[in-house]
Amino acid sequence: PELAAVILSSTIDVPDFPKPGIVFKDLMPLFADGAAFKRVVDGIVEHYGADSFDVVAGVEARGFVVAAAIAYATGTGVVPIRKAGKLPRKALSATYELEYGEATLEVHEDAFIAGQRVLVVDDVLATGGTAGAALELVERAGGTVVGFTVLMELAFLKGRERLSPRTVHALLTV
Ligand code: 5GP
Repeated sequence: PELAAVILSSTIDVPDFPKPGIVFKDLMPLFADGAAFKRVVDGIVEHYGADSFDVVAGVEARGFVVAAAIAYATGTGVVPIRKAGKLPRKALSATYELEYGEATLEVHEDAFIAGQRVLVVDDVLATGGTAGAALELVERAGGTVVGFTVLMELAFLKGRERLSPRTVHALLTV
């Protein structure tokens, strides 16, 4: 089957998580399936080309799983983009709006060498708030964003439009 079909078939819809009315896409079964996970990682590496980035930035927490695998497959490194208050050293912060309230992401201020080419990854693109903050942080910390990729894009939440003119690569759009 095609990669998009592999992702779809190993994802579980969870109604009313984390709140009533939200259908959460659970990608844990995909991560747990070795053959499917390998295809996902290989698919991302093929899309960008193994020599097109120097480091992979993953968004806490599911983005870490994908980022580490891509980094290992390409001999690059991993930089974590974390939720507020988790990083031990001096960090840059970006706060963004949620449906109710706000959230903050952080990255170490010395996470990147100036001009280092950074691939930013997460599992799911929904409204795009998380991705927008992550991309902003990479740029403020001196990295050059070469791409933003997700396993799954929830098109009805219009994250791609919110991130424009930045481009999004999604292995599956639903
Ligand atoms: P956004 O900021 O685009 O609205 O939400 C995307 C962030 O929330 C990502 O970090 C993603 O991991 C998480 N997220 C939002 N909705 C879902 C979902 O349905 N499934 C999963 N696995 N993560 C989600």
